[in-house]
Amino acid sequence: TPLDRIRNFSIIAHIDHGKSTLADRLIQRTGGLSDREMSAQVLDNMDIEKERGITIKAQTVRLEWKGHVLNLMDTPGHVDFAYEVSRSLAACEGALLVVDAAQGVEAQTLANVYQSIEHDHEILPVINKIDLPAAEPEKVRAEIEDIIGLDASEAVLASAKSGIGIDEILDQIVAKIPPPKGDADAPLKAMLVDSWYDPYLGVVILVRVIDGSIKKGQQIKFLAAGTTHLVDRVGAFRPKIEQLGQLGPGEIGFITAQIKEVAQTAVGDTITDAKKPAAAPLPGFKEVQPVVFCGLFPVDANDFEKLRESIGKLRLNDASFSYEMETSAALGFGFRCGFLGLLHLEIIQERLMREYDLDLITTAPSVVYRIHLSHSKTEDAKVIELHNPADMPDPNRIEEIEEPWIEATIYVPDEYLGSILKLCQDRRGIQKDLTYVGGRAQLRYELPLNEVVFDFYDRLKSISRGYASFDYHQIGHRPGDLVKMNILVNNEAVDALSMIVHRGTAEARGRGMCERLKDLIPRHLFKIPIQAAIGGKVIARETIAALRKDVTAKCYGGDASRKRKLLDKQKEGKKRMREYGSVSIPQEAFIAALRMG
Ligand code: GDP
Ligand code: MG
Repeated sequence: TPLDRIRNFSIIAHIDHGKSTLADRLIQRTGGLSDREMSAQVLDNMDIEKERGITIKAQTVRLEWKGHVLNLMDTPGHVDFAYEVSRSLAACEGALLVVDAAQGVEAQTLANVYQSIEHDHEILPVINKIDLPAAEPEKVRAEIEDIIGLDASEAVLASAKSGIGIDEILDQIVAKIPPPKGDADAPLKAMLVDSWYDPYLGVVILVRVIDGSIKKGQQIKFLAAGTTHLVDRVGAFRPKIEQLGQLGPGEIGFITAQIKEVAQTAVGDTITDAKKPAAAPLPGFKEVQPVVFCGLFPVDANDFEKLRESIGKLRLNDASFSYEMETSAALGFGFRCGFLGLLHLEIIQERLMREYDLDLITTAPSVVYRIHLSHSKTEDAKVIELHNPADMPDPNRIEEIEEPWIEATIYVPDEYLGSILKLCQDRRGIQKDLTYVGGRAQLRYELPLNEVVFDFYDRLKSISRGYASFDYHQIGHRPGDLVKMNILVNNEAVDALSMIVHRGTAEARGRGMCERLKDLIPRHLFKIPIQAAIGGKVIARETIAALRKDVTAKCYGGDASRKRKLLDKQKEGKKRMREYGSVSIPQEAFIAALRMG
Protein backbone atom coordinates (compact mmCIF):
# COMPACT_ATOMS: atom_id res chain seq x y z
CA THR A 1 0.00 0.00 0.00
CA PRO A 2 1.42 3.42 -0.90
CA LEU A 3 2.10 5.61 2.12
CA ASP A 4 -0.41 8.31 1.16
CA ARG A 5 -3.18 5.69 1.23
CA ILE A 6 -2.48 4.63 4.84
CA ARG A 7 -3.88 6.12 8.05
CA ASN A 8 -2.90 4.76 11.46
CA PHE A 9 -4.95 5.85 14.44
CA SER A 10 -5.96 4.85 17.93
CA ILE A 11 -8.97 5.67 20.01
CA ILE A 12 -8.47 7.33 23.34
CA ALA A 13 -11.21 7.63 25.89
CA HIS A 14 -11.96 7.46 29.56
CA ILE A 15 -13.34 4.07 30.62
CA ASP A 16 -16.98 3.61 29.54
CA HIS A 17 -17.07 6.56 27.18
CA GLY A 18 -17.65 4.20 24.26
CA LYS A 19 -14.31 3.28 22.76
CA SER A 20 -15.11 -0.39 22.13
CA THR A 21 -18.59 0.33 20.84
CA LEU A 22 -17.24 2.88 18.39
CA ALA A 23 -14.49 0.52 17.24
CA ASP A 24 -17.11 -2.14 16.53
CA ARG A 25 -19.18 0.34 14.55
CA LEU A 26 -16.22 1.37 12.42
CA ILE A 27 -15.49 -2.28 11.66
CA GLN A 28 -19.10 -2.94 10.80
CA ARG A 29 -19.44 0.14 8.58
CA THR A 30 -16.30 -0.67 6.60
CA GLY A 31 -17.54 -4.19 6.00
CA GLY A 32 -15.16 -6.21 8.14
CA LEU A 33 -17.89 -8.30 9.73
CA SER A 34 -21.50 -9.28 9.23
CA ASP A 35 -24.17 -8.15 11.68
CA ARG A 36 -24.25 -11.56 13.25
CA GLU A 37 -20.52 -11.55 13.83
CA MET A 38 -20.85 -8.11 15.37
CA SER A 39 -23.08 -9.41 18.14
CA ALA A 40 -20.13 -9.75 20.47
CA GLN A 41 -17.83 -6.81 20.98
CA VAL A 42 -14.95 -7.62 18.74
CA LEU A 43 -12.02 -5.83 20.23
CA ASP A 44 -12.49 -6.94 23.80
CA ASN A 45 -11.52 -10.58 23.47
CA MET A 46 -11.26 -11.94 26.93
CA ASP A 47 -14.19 -12.55 29.22
CA ILE A 48 -12.73 -10.52 32.02
CA GLU A 49 -12.18 -7.59 29.70
CA LYS A 50 -15.76 -7.79 28.65
CA GLU A 51 -17.08 -8.01 32.18
CA ARG A 52 -14.95 -5.23 33.54
CA GLY A 53 -15.37 -3.25 30.37
CA ILE A 54 -11.69 -2.57 30.03
CA THR A 55 -9.23 -3.46 27.35
CA ILE A 56 -6.15 -5.26 28.52
CA LYS A 57 -4.39 -6.33 25.36
CA ALA A 58 -4.00 -4.01 22.41
CA GLN A 59 -5.42 -5.23 19.13
CA THR A 60 -5.39 -3.78 15.69
CA VAL A 61 -7.90 -3.96 12.89
CA ARG A 62 -7.28 -3.10 9.26
CA LEU A 63 -10.22 -1.26 7.70
CA GLU A 64 -10.82 -0.10 4.15
CA TRP A 65 -12.57 3.17 3.46
CA LYS A 66 -12.82 4.95 0.11
CA GLY A 67 -9.58 3.56 -1.28
CA HIS A 68 -7.60 3.97 1.94
CA VAL A 69 -6.28 1.46 4.47
CA LEU A 70 -7.13 2.56 8.01
CA ASN A 71 -5.39 0.75 10.83
CA LEU A 72 -7.36 1.06 14.02
CA MET A 73 -5.28 0.34 17.05
CA ASP A 74 -7.08 -0.42 20.29
CA THR A 75 -5.04 0.50 23.35
CA PRO A 76 -5.23 -0.84 26.91
CA GLY A 77 -7.51 1.32 28.99
CA HIS A 78 -5.87 1.30 32.39
CA VAL A 79 -3.01 3.10 34.11
CA ASP A 80 -1.34 -0.21 34.97
CA PHE A 81 -0.59 -0.73 31.30
CA ALA A 82 0.81 2.71 30.59
CA TYR A 83 3.90 1.51 28.74
CA GLU A 84 1.92 -0.67 26.34
CA VAL A 85 -0.31 2.30 25.68
CA SER A 86 2.69 4.48 24.92
CA ARG A 87 4.03 1.97 22.35
CA SER A 88 0.64 1.67 20.66
CA LEU A 89 0.43 5.43 20.42
CA ALA A 90 3.95 5.58 19.01
CA ALA A 91 2.73 3.34 16.16
CA CYS A 92 0.06 5.85 15.07
CA GLU A 93 -0.12 9.30 13.52
CA GLY A 94 -3.47 10.26 14.94
CA ALA A 95 -6.15 9.55 17.49
CA LEU A 96 -9.88 9.78 17.91
CA LEU A 97 -10.62 11.38 21.23
CA VAL A 98 -13.95 9.96 22.39
CA VAL A 99 -15.71 11.95 25.10
CA ASP A 100 -19.03 10.95 26.60
CA ALA A 101 -21.53 13.74 25.93
CA ALA A 102 -23.10 13.27 29.34
CA GLN A 103 -19.94 12.81 31.43
CA GLY A 104 -17.52 15.25 29.86
CA VAL A 105 -13.75 15.23 30.09
CA GLU A 106 -12.30 13.02 32.86
CA ALA A 107 -8.88 12.39 34.37
CA GLN A 108 -7.97 9.50 32.16
CA THR A 109 -9.11 11.33 29.06
CA LEU A 110 -6.62 14.00 29.97
CA ALA A 111 -3.76 11.65 30.73
CA ASN A 112 -4.25 9.90 27.38
CA VAL A 113 -4.56 13.11 25.44
CA TYR A 114 -1.31 14.44 26.83
CA GLN A 115 0.43 11.24 25.79
CA SER A 116 -1.12 11.48 22.36
CA ILE A 117 0.07 15.07 22.03
CA GLU A 118 3.57 13.97 23.05
CA HIS A 119 3.50 11.58 20.09
CA ASP A 120 2.58 14.48 17.79
CA HIS A 121 -0.77 13.00 16.95
CA GLU A 122 -3.46 14.74 15.04
CA ILE A 123 -6.34 14.47 17.50
CA LEU A 124 -9.93 14.34 16.26
CA PRO A 125 -12.50 14.94 18.99
CA VAL A 126 -15.64 12.80 18.88
CA ILE A 127 -18.50 13.64 21.20
CA ASN A 128 -20.21 10.30 21.76
CA LYS A 129 -23.55 9.21 23.22
CA ILE A 130 -25.46 12.20 21.87
CA ASP A 131 -28.53 9.94 21.93
CA LEU A 132 -28.63 10.10 25.73
CA PRO A 133 -31.24 12.41 27.26
CA ALA A 134 -28.55 13.76 29.59
CA ALA A 135 -26.20 14.57 26.68
CA GLU A 136 -24.83 18.11 26.64
CA PRO A 137 -22.71 18.12 23.50
CA GLU A 138 -22.14 21.87 23.41
CA LYS A 139 -21.00 21.95 27.02
CA VAL A 140 -18.63 19.08 26.31
CA ARG A 141 -17.36 20.81 23.17
CA ALA A 142 -16.47 23.82 25.30
CA GLU A 143 -14.81 21.55 27.87
CA ILE A 144 -12.61 19.96 25.22
CA GLU A 145 -11.50 23.44 24.17
CA ASP A 146 -11.09 24.90 27.68
CA ILE A 147 -9.62 21.93 29.51
CA ILE A 148 -7.61 20.21 26.81
CA GLY A 149 -7.00 23.15 24.54
CA LEU A 150 -8.01 21.38 21.33
CA ASP A 151 -10.03 22.98 18.58
CA ALA A 152 -13.36 21.19 18.85
CA SER A 153 -15.32 23.27 16.34
CA GLU A 154 -15.40 20.32 13.94
CA ALA A 155 -15.83 17.64 16.61
CA VAL A 156 -18.10 14.90 15.30
CA LEU A 157 -21.35 14.53 17.22
CA ALA A 158 -21.82 10.78 17.35
CA SER A 159 -23.67 7.91 18.84
CA ALA A 160 -21.67 4.73 18.57
CA LYS A 161 -24.70 2.89 19.85
CA SER A 162 -27.20 4.15 17.28
CA GLY A 163 -24.68 4.55 14.45
CA ILE A 164 -24.81 8.34 14.18
CA GLY A 165 -21.75 10.18 12.83
CA ILE A 166 -19.82 7.08 11.77
CA ASP A 167 -19.25 8.06 8.12
CA GLU A 168 -18.19 11.52 9.17
CA ILE A 169 -15.63 10.04 11.55
CA LEU A 170 -14.19 7.84 8.79
CA ASP A 171 -14.03 10.78 6.37
CA GLN A 172 -12.27 12.96 8.95
CA ILE A 173 -9.70 10.23 9.56
CA VAL A 174 -8.81 10.19 5.87
CA ALA A 175 -8.88 13.97 5.51
CA LYS A 176 -7.15 15.07 8.70
CA ILE A 177 -4.79 12.39 9.98
CA PRO A 178 -1.43 12.59 8.22
CA PRO A 179 -0.18 9.52 6.33
CA PRO A 180 2.86 7.74 7.82
CA LYS A 181 6.39 8.46 6.64
CA GLY A 182 8.92 5.77 5.80
CA ASP A 183 11.54 4.59 3.35
CA ALA A 184 10.76 1.43 1.38
CA ASP A 185 14.38 0.99 0.29
CA ALA A 186 16.01 1.31 3.72
CA PRO A 187 16.80 -1.81 5.80
CA LEU A 188 13.83 -3.19 7.74
CA LYS A 189 13.01 -1.30 10.88
CA ALA A 190 9.78 -2.20 12.69
CA MET A 191 8.45 -1.77 16.19
CA LEU A 192 7.20 -4.67 18.26
CA VAL A 193 3.94 -3.12 19.45
CA ASP A 194 2.37 -6.05 21.24
CA SER A 195 2.42 -9.82 21.42
CA TRP A 196 0.20 -12.56 22.73
CA TYR A 197 -0.04 -16.30 22.76
CA ASP A 198 -2.48 -17.95 20.42
CA PRO A 199 -3.11 -21.68 20.85
CA TYR A 200 -3.06 -22.25 17.06
CA LEU A 201 -0.48 -19.75 15.84
CA GLY A 202 1.90 -19.65 18.80
CA VAL A 203 3.15 -16.20 19.73
CA VAL A 204 1.61 -13.54 17.50
CA ILE A 205 3.51 -10.29 17.19
CA LEU A 206 1.89 -7.01 16.26
CA VAL A 207 4.32 -4.83 14.32
CA ARG A 208 4.43 -1.34 12.90
CA VAL A 209 6.84 -1.14 10.00
CA ILE A 210 8.82 2.10 9.88
CA ASP A 211 11.26 1.45 6.99
CA GLY A 212 11.78 -1.43 4.59
CA SER A 213 9.44 -4.40 4.57
CA ILE A 214 8.83 -7.67 6.33
CA LYS A 215 8.01 -10.90 4.44
CA LYS A 216 7.45 -14.57 4.95
CA GLY A 217 10.76 -16.47 4.94
CA GLN A 218 12.79 -13.49 6.13
CA GLN A 219 15.36 -13.85 8.91
CA ILE A 220 14.61 -11.13 11.43
CA LYS A 221 16.45 -9.91 14.47
CA PHE A 222 15.10 -8.40 17.70
CA LEU A 223 17.67 -5.76 18.62
CA ALA A 224 17.06 -5.48 22.39
CA ALA A 225 16.62 -9.22 22.91
CA GLY A 226 19.45 -10.06 20.51
CA THR A 227 17.59 -13.07 19.07
CA THR A 228 16.90 -14.04 15.46
CA HIS A 229 13.80 -15.75 14.07
CA LEU A 230 12.40 -16.93 10.78
CA VAL A 231 9.14 -15.24 9.77
CA ASP A 232 6.55 -17.84 8.81
CA ARG A 233 3.41 -15.73 8.52
CA VAL A 234 2.64 -12.11 7.73
CA GLY A 235 -0.85 -10.68 7.82
CA ALA A 236 -3.46 -8.34 9.21
CA PHE A 237 -6.69 -8.59 11.17
CA ARG A 238 -9.77 -7.42 9.34
CA PRO A 239 -10.64 -8.41 12.11
CA LYS A 240 -10.45 -11.97 10.82
CA ILE A 241 -6.93 -13.07 9.99
CA GLU A 242 -5.84 -12.36 6.45
CA GLN A 243 -2.39 -13.40 5.25
CA LEU A 244 -0.47 -10.84 3.22
CA GLY A 245 2.63 -11.11 1.04
CA GLN A 246 4.43 -8.47 3.02
CA LEU A 247 4.06 -5.42 5.22
CA GLY A 248 5.68 -2.26 3.88
CA PRO A 249 6.58 1.08 5.46
CA GLY A 250 3.79 2.69 7.47
CA GLU A 251 1.83 -0.54 7.72
CA ILE A 252 0.59 -2.28 10.84
CA GLY A 253 0.02 -6.01 10.94
CA PHE A 254 1.10 -9.22 12.55
CA ILE A 255 3.84 -11.77 12.06
CA THR A 256 4.51 -15.19 13.53
CA ALA A 257 7.96 -16.69 13.72
CA GLN A 258 7.67 -19.95 15.67
CA ILE A 259 8.20 -18.24 18.99
CA LYS A 260 7.05 -20.20 22.02
CA GLU A 261 6.72 -17.61 24.77
CA VAL A 262 5.66 -13.99 24.84
CA ALA A 263 8.46 -13.43 27.34
CA GLN A 264 10.85 -13.55 24.37
CA THR A 265 9.08 -10.63 22.74
CA ALA A 266 9.52 -7.35 24.58
CA VAL A 267 7.06 -4.60 23.71
CA GLY A 268 8.95 -1.66 22.20
CA ASP A 269 11.79 -3.79 20.79
CA THR A 270 13.10 -3.03 17.30
CA ILE A 271 12.70 -5.70 14.64
CA THR A 272 15.17 -5.60 11.79
CA ASP A 273 16.59 -7.79 9.01
CA ALA A 274 19.13 -10.23 10.44
CA LYS A 275 21.38 -9.99 7.37
CA LYS A 276 20.98 -6.27 6.71
CA PRO A 277 20.20 -4.73 10.11
CA ALA A 278 19.07 -1.16 10.70
CA ALA A 279 21.79 1.14 11.99
CA ALA A 280 20.06 2.19 15.21
CA PRO A 281 17.18 0.88 17.35
CA LEU A 282 13.95 2.83 17.68
CA PRO A 283 13.84 5.26 20.60
CA GLY A 284 11.79 4.65 23.72
CA PHE A 285 12.47 1.01 24.46
CA LYS A 286 11.93 0.19 28.12
CA GLU A 287 11.80 -3.04 30.00
CA VAL A 288 8.67 -3.09 32.14
CA GLN A 289 9.17 -4.06 35.75
CA PRO A 290 6.51 -5.28 38.16
CA VAL A 291 5.78 -2.72 40.88
CA VAL A 292 3.37 -4.55 43.17
CA PHE A 293 4.14 -7.93 44.71
CA CYS A 294 2.10 -10.40 46.69
CA GLY A 295 2.06 -14.05 47.62
CA LEU A 296 -0.48 -16.40 46.07
CA PHE A 297 -1.13 -19.62 47.99
CA PRO A 298 -3.61 -22.41 47.35
CA VAL A 299 -6.24 -22.70 50.08
CA ASP A 300 -5.92 -26.44 49.72
CA ALA A 301 -2.26 -27.43 49.88
CA ASN A 302 -2.98 -30.27 47.42
CA ASP A 303 -3.65 -27.67 44.73
CA PHE A 304 -0.05 -26.47 44.66
CA GLU A 305 0.89 -28.35 41.47
CA LYS A 306 -2.27 -27.16 39.78
CA LEU A 307 -1.42 -23.60 40.80
CA ARG A 308 2.09 -23.97 39.41
CA GLU A 309 0.75 -25.18 36.07
CA SER A 310 -1.93 -22.51 35.86
CA ILE A 311 0.46 -19.68 36.67
CA GLY A 312 2.84 -21.04 34.03
CA LYS A 313 0.07 -20.98 31.44
CA LEU A 314 -0.96 -17.43 32.31
CA ARG A 315 2.61 -16.29 32.13
CA LEU A 316 2.82 -17.67 28.57
CA ASN A 317 0.52 -14.86 27.61
CA ASP A 318 1.62 -12.12 29.94
CA ALA A 319 5.30 -11.30 30.08
CA SER A 320 4.73 -8.40 32.46
CA PHE A 321 3.87 -10.56 35.42
CA SER A 322 6.57 -12.45 37.27
CA TYR A 323 6.54 -15.30 39.76
CA GLU A 324 8.84 -17.39 41.85
CA MET A 325 8.21 -20.07 44.42
CA GLU A 326 7.74 -18.97 47.99
CA THR A 327 7.25 -20.86 51.22
CA SER A 328 5.40 -19.44 54.16
CA ALA A 329 5.51 -20.92 57.63
CA ALA A 330 1.75 -20.78 57.83
CA LEU A 331 0.53 -20.95 54.25
CA GLY A 332 2.90 -23.60 52.97
CA PHE A 333 4.01 -23.60 49.34
CA GLY A 334 2.96 -20.83 47.00
CA PHE A 335 4.30 -18.16 44.67
CA ARG A 336 5.57 -14.65 45.08
CA CYS A 337 4.16 -12.77 42.11
CA GLY A 338 4.91 -9.35 40.66
CA PHE A 339 2.38 -7.18 38.85
CA LEU A 340 2.25 -3.87 37.01
CA GLY A 341 -0.32 -2.57 39.47
CA LEU A 342 -3.27 -3.52 41.60
CA LEU A 343 -5.69 -3.99 38.74
CA HIS A 344 -3.23 -6.28 37.03
CA LEU A 345 -2.99 -8.26 40.28
CA GLU A 346 -6.76 -8.55 40.50
CA ILE A 347 -7.06 -9.66 36.89
CA ILE A 348 -4.49 -12.44 37.29
CA GLN A 349 -5.97 -13.55 40.60
CA GLU A 350 -9.46 -13.58 39.13
CA ARG A 351 -8.37 -15.58 36.09
CA LEU A 352 -6.66 -18.16 38.30
CA MET A 353 -9.78 -18.56 40.39
CA ARG A 354 -12.22 -18.54 37.51
CA GLU A 355 -10.49 -20.14 34.53
CA TYR A 356 -8.43 -22.58 36.54
CA ASP A 357 -10.89 -23.13 39.36
CA LEU A 358 -8.42 -22.47 42.16
CA ASP A 359 -9.16 -21.23 45.68
CA LEU A 360 -6.40 -18.80 46.57
CA ILE A 361 -5.14 -16.80 49.49
CA THR A 362 -3.53 -13.51 48.55
CA THR A 363 -1.10 -11.99 51.00
CA ALA A 364 -0.79 -8.24 51.59
CA PRO A 365 0.34 -6.50 48.39
CA SER A 366 3.72 -4.85 48.79
CA VAL A 367 5.61 -2.34 46.71
CA VAL A 368 9.35 -2.59 46.09
CA TYR A 369 11.36 -0.98 48.89
CA ARG A 370 14.98 -0.04 48.55
CA ILE A 371 16.84 -0.82 51.75
CA HIS A 372 20.25 0.62 52.52
CA LEU A 373 22.13 -1.69 54.85
CA SER A 374 24.98 -0.52 57.00
CA HIS A 375 28.39 -2.20 57.27
CA SER A 376 28.64 -5.36 59.21
CA LYS A 377 31.79 -7.27 60.06
CA THR A 378 31.29 -9.71 57.22
CA GLU A 379 29.57 -7.60 54.58
CA ASP A 380 29.97 -4.27 52.85
CA ALA A 381 27.30 -1.61 52.89
CA LYS A 382 24.77 -2.32 50.18
CA VAL A 383 21.31 -1.67 48.84
CA ILE A 384 18.76 -4.42 48.49
CA GLU A 385 15.35 -4.44 46.84
CA LEU A 386 12.68 -5.84 49.10
CA HIS A 387 9.57 -7.40 47.55
CA ASN A 388 8.35 -9.34 50.55
CA PRO A 389 7.93 -8.02 54.10
CA ALA A 390 8.91 -11.50 55.33
CA ASP A 391 12.45 -10.89 54.04
CA MET A 392 12.91 -7.65 55.96
CA PRO A 393 16.47 -7.55 57.33
CA ASP A 394 17.29 -6.98 61.00
CA PRO A 395 16.28 -3.35 61.74
CA ASN A 396 19.64 -2.75 63.43
CA ARG A 397 21.37 -3.18 60.10
CA ILE A 398 19.08 -0.81 58.22
CA GLU A 399 20.43 2.63 57.55
CA GLU A 400 17.57 3.89 55.45
CA ILE A 401 14.46 2.60 53.65
CA GLU A 402 13.26 4.19 50.45
CA GLU A 403 9.77 3.73 49.05
CA PRO A 404 8.32 4.40 45.59
CA TRP A 405 6.23 7.54 45.05
CA ILE A 406 3.71 8.43 42.42
CA GLU A 407 2.18 11.58 41.04
CA ALA A 408 -1.58 11.26 40.87
CA THR A 409 -4.04 13.35 38.91
CA ILE A 410 -7.52 13.30 40.35
CA TYR A 411 -10.53 14.85 38.77
CA VAL A 412 -13.49 15.38 41.07
CA PRO A 413 -16.77 17.32 41.23
CA ASP A 414 -16.56 20.16 43.72
CA GLU A 415 -18.96 18.69 46.28
CA TYR A 416 -16.64 15.74 46.99
CA LEU A 417 -13.42 17.75 47.02
CA GLY A 418 -13.20 18.05 50.81
CA SER A 419 -13.41 14.31 51.41
CA ILE A 420 -10.92 13.55 48.63
CA LEU A 421 -8.43 16.06 50.05
CA LYS A 422 -8.76 14.37 53.42
CA LEU A 423 -8.23 10.94 51.88
CA CYS A 424 -5.04 12.11 50.15
CA GLN A 425 -3.85 13.81 53.32
CA ASP A 426 -4.48 10.64 55.37
CA ARG A 427 -2.41 8.71 52.84
CA ARG A 428 0.58 11.00 53.35
CA GLY A 429 -0.10 12.90 50.15
CA ILE A 430 1.62 16.13 49.21
CA GLN A 431 -0.61 18.51 47.33
CA LYS A 432 1.06 19.98 44.26
CA ASP A 433 -1.74 21.71 42.48
CA LEU A 434 -5.46 22.42 42.65
CA THR A 435 -7.27 24.03 39.73
CA TYR A 436 -10.90 24.37 38.74
CA VAL A 437 -12.18 23.57 35.31
CA GLY A 438 -15.86 23.76 34.50
CA GLY A 439 -17.14 23.20 38.05
CA ARG A 440 -14.78 20.36 38.73
CA ALA A 441 -11.50 20.31 40.59
CA GLN A 442 -8.32 18.94 39.12
CA LEU A 443 -5.93 17.83 41.84
CA ARG A 444 -2.33 16.84 41.55
CA TYR A 445 -0.88 14.95 44.48
CA GLU A 446 2.34 13.17 45.23
CA LEU A 447 1.63 9.99 47.17
CA PRO A 448 3.62 7.01 48.41
CA LEU A 449 2.64 4.04 46.24
CA ASN A 450 2.41 1.98 49.43
CA GLU A 451 -0.59 4.07 50.52
CA VAL A 452 -2.30 3.62 47.17
CA VAL A 453 -1.99 -0.10 46.53
CA PHE A 454 -4.39 -1.28 49.16
CA ASP A 455 -7.70 0.36 48.53
CA PHE A 456 -7.11 3.94 47.50
CA TYR A 457 -8.99 3.58 44.24
CA ASP A 458 -11.98 1.89 45.91
CA ARG A 459 -12.11 4.59 48.58
CA LEU A 460 -11.86 7.34 46.02
CA LYS A 461 -14.75 5.88 44.06
CA SER A 462 -16.96 5.29 47.08
CA ILE A 463 -16.33 8.72 48.60
CA SER A 464 -17.21 10.42 45.32
CA ARG A 465 -20.06 8.06 44.39
CA GLY A 466 -18.05 7.02 41.37
CA TYR A 467 -17.50 10.53 40.03
CA ALA A 468 -13.83 10.99 40.84
CA SER A 469 -11.31 9.67 38.36
CA PHE A 470 -7.71 8.84 39.00
CA ASP A 471 -4.56 8.40 37.01
CA TYR A 472 -0.93 8.10 38.09
CA HIS A 473 2.67 7.60 37.09
CA GLN A 474 5.73 6.74 39.15
CA ILE A 475 8.19 9.46 40.12
CA GLY A 476 10.94 7.49 41.86
CA HIS A 477 11.96 6.40 45.35
CA ARG A 478 12.15 8.61 48.44
CA PRO A 479 13.33 7.88 51.99
CA GLY A 480 10.57 7.20 54.52
CA ASP A 481 10.22 6.33 58.20
CA LEU A 482 9.07 2.78 57.52
CA VAL A 483 8.77 -0.21 59.80
CA LYS A 484 7.60 -3.78 59.56
CA MET A 485 4.38 -4.49 61.39
CA ASN A 486 3.59 -8.04 62.44
CA ILE A 487 0.14 -9.37 63.21
CA LEU A 488 0.05 -11.98 65.95
CA VAL A 489 -2.88 -14.32 66.32
CA ASN A 490 -2.81 -16.29 69.56
CA ASN A 491 0.74 -14.99 70.07
CA GLU A 492 1.95 -16.33 66.75
CA ALA A 493 3.02 -14.02 63.90
CA VAL A 494 0.96 -14.62 60.75
CA ASP A 495 3.53 -14.03 58.04
CA ALA A 496 0.92 -13.49 55.34
CA LEU A 497 -0.43 -10.48 57.21
CA SER A 498 2.81 -8.71 58.02
CA MET A 499 3.37 -5.50 56.12
CA ILE A 500 5.62 -2.52 55.86
CA VAL A 501 3.99 0.66 57.11
CA HIS A 502 4.86 4.24 57.84
CA ARG A 503 5.59 4.77 61.54
CA GLY A 504 3.17 7.67 61.71
CA THR A 505 0.21 5.59 60.52
CA ALA A 506 1.28 2.25 62.01
CA GLU A 507 -0.86 2.48 65.11
CA ALA A 508 -4.05 3.33 63.22
CA ARG A 509 -3.36 0.63 60.66
CA GLY A 510 -2.59 -1.91 63.39
CA ARG A 511 -5.72 -1.05 65.32
CA GLY A 512 -7.86 -1.34 62.20
CA MET A 513 -6.36 -4.71 61.33
CA CYS A 514 -6.94 -6.10 64.83
CA GLU A 515 -10.53 -4.85 64.89
CA ARG A 516 -11.34 -6.36 61.54
CA LEU A 517 -9.66 -9.66 62.35
CA LYS A 518 -11.65 -9.82 65.55
CA ASP A 519 -14.82 -9.81 63.46
CA LEU A 520 -13.47 -12.09 60.76
CA ILE A 521 -12.04 -14.91 62.85
CA PRO A 522 -14.71 -17.13 64.35
CA ARG A 523 -14.73 -17.83 68.06
CA HIS A 524 -12.87 -20.86 69.29
CA LEU A 525 -13.16 -22.80 72.52
CA PHE A 526 -10.42 -20.61 73.99
CA LYS A 527 -9.66 -16.90 74.17
CA ILE A 528 -7.61 -15.58 71.21
CA PRO A 529 -5.51 -12.44 71.54
CA ILE A 530 -4.90 -10.52 68.30
CA GLN A 531 -2.02 -8.09 68.34
CA ALA A 532 -0.20 -5.73 66.02
CA ALA A 533 3.46 -5.32 66.89
CA ILE A 534 6.52 -3.50 65.67
CA GLY A 535 9.55 -5.49 66.74
CA GLY A 536 8.75 -6.58 70.28
CA LYS A 537 6.40 -3.68 70.93
CA VAL A 538 2.65 -4.28 70.80
CA ILE A 539 0.89 -1.23 69.31
CA ALA A 540 -2.68 -2.55 69.14
CA ARG A 541 -4.62 -5.39 70.68
CA GLU A 542 -8.02 -7.06 70.54
CA THR A 543 -9.33 -10.26 72.08
CA ILE A 544 -11.77 -12.78 70.68
CA ALA A 545 -13.76 -14.19 73.57
CA ALA A 546 -13.98 -17.94 74.03
CA LEU A 547 -16.95 -19.86 72.69
CA ARG A 548 -19.14 -21.36 75.37
CA LYS A 549 -18.86 -25.13 75.10
CA ASP A 550 -22.60 -25.78 75.29
CA VAL A 551 -23.67 -23.47 72.43
CA THR A 552 -24.15 -26.03 69.69
CA ALA A 553 -25.64 -28.51 72.10
CA LYS A 554 -28.22 -25.97 73.25
CA CYS A 555 -29.22 -24.59 69.86
CA TYR A 556 -29.40 -27.76 67.95
CA GLY A 557 -30.07 -30.20 70.75
CA GLY A 558 -33.11 -32.06 69.50
CA ASP A 559 -33.01 -31.59 65.75
CA ALA A 560 -30.76 -34.19 64.17
CA SER A 561 -31.08 -33.00 60.57
CA ARG A 562 -30.29 -29.41 61.44
CA LYS A 563 -27.31 -30.57 63.42
CA ARG A 564 -26.05 -32.56 60.45
CA LYS A 565 -26.51 -29.57 58.20
CA LEU A 566 -24.43 -27.52 60.56
CA LEU A 567 -21.68 -30.11 60.55
CA ASP A 568 -21.73 -30.29 56.75
CA LYS A 569 -21.48 -26.56 56.61
CA GLN A 570 -18.50 -26.66 58.92
CA LYS A 571 -16.82 -29.23 56.71
CA GLU A 572 -17.42 -27.08 53.67
CA GLY A 573 -16.02 -24.13 55.58
CA LYS A 574 -12.95 -26.10 56.56
CA LYS A 575 -11.63 -26.08 53.06
CA ARG A 576 -11.62 -22.32 53.10
CA MET A 577 -9.84 -22.01 56.45
CA ARG A 578 -6.16 -21.94 57.27
CA GLU A 579 -4.86 -23.35 60.54
CA TYR A 580 -2.51 -21.13 62.52
CA GLY A 581 -1.31 -23.22 65.37
CA SER A 582 -4.63 -24.05 66.92
CA VAL A 583 -6.56 -21.16 65.33
CA SER A 584 -8.57 -21.40 62.11
CA ILE A 585 -8.61 -18.26 59.99
CA PRO A 586 -11.12 -18.03 57.13
CA GLN A 587 -9.71 -17.30 53.70
CA GLU A 588 -11.77 -14.12 53.38
CA ALA A 589 -10.06 -12.69 56.44
CA PHE A 590 -6.75 -12.34 54.66
CA ILE A 591 -8.05 -10.04 51.99
CA ALA A 592 -10.68 -8.29 54.05
CA ALA A 593 -8.22 -7.49 56.84
CA LEU A 594 -6.07 -5.56 54.40
CA ARG A 595 -8.81 -3.14 53.43
CA MET A 596 -8.39 -0.01 55.45
CA GLY A 597 -11.36 1.46 57.28
P1 GDP B 1 -15.17 1.74 26.62
O1 GDP B 1 -14.91 1.42 28.06
O2 GDP B 1 -14.72 3.14 26.31
O3 GDP B 1 -14.66 0.72 25.65
O4 GDP B 1 -16.76 1.82 26.48
P2 GDP B 1 -17.77 0.79 25.83
O5 GDP B 1 -17.75 0.87 24.34
O6 GDP B 1 -17.59 -0.54 26.45
O7 GDP B 1 -19.14 1.47 26.27
C1 GDP B 1 -19.48 1.62 27.62
C2 GDP B 1 -21.01 1.64 27.76
O8 GDP B 1 -21.55 2.75 27.06
C3 GDP B 1 -21.65 0.40 27.15
O9 GDP B 1 -22.72 0.03 27.97
C4 GDP B 1 -22.15 0.90 25.78
O10 GDP B 1 -23.27 0.18 25.34
C5 GDP B 1 -22.50 2.33 26.09
N1 GDP B 1 -22.38 3.19 24.91
C6 GDP B 1 -21.34 3.29 24.05
N2 GDP B 1 -21.60 4.19 23.09
C7 GDP B 1 -22.85 4.68 23.35
C8 GDP B 1 -23.69 5.65 22.71
O11 GDP B 1 -23.38 6.26 21.68
N3 GDP B 1 -24.90 5.89 23.30
C9 GDP B 1 -25.29 5.25 24.43
N4 GDP B 1 -26.49 5.56 24.93
N5 GDP B 1 -24.54 4.33 25.04
C10 GDP B 1 -23.33 4.04 24.51
MG1 MG C 1 -13.65 -1.09 25.95
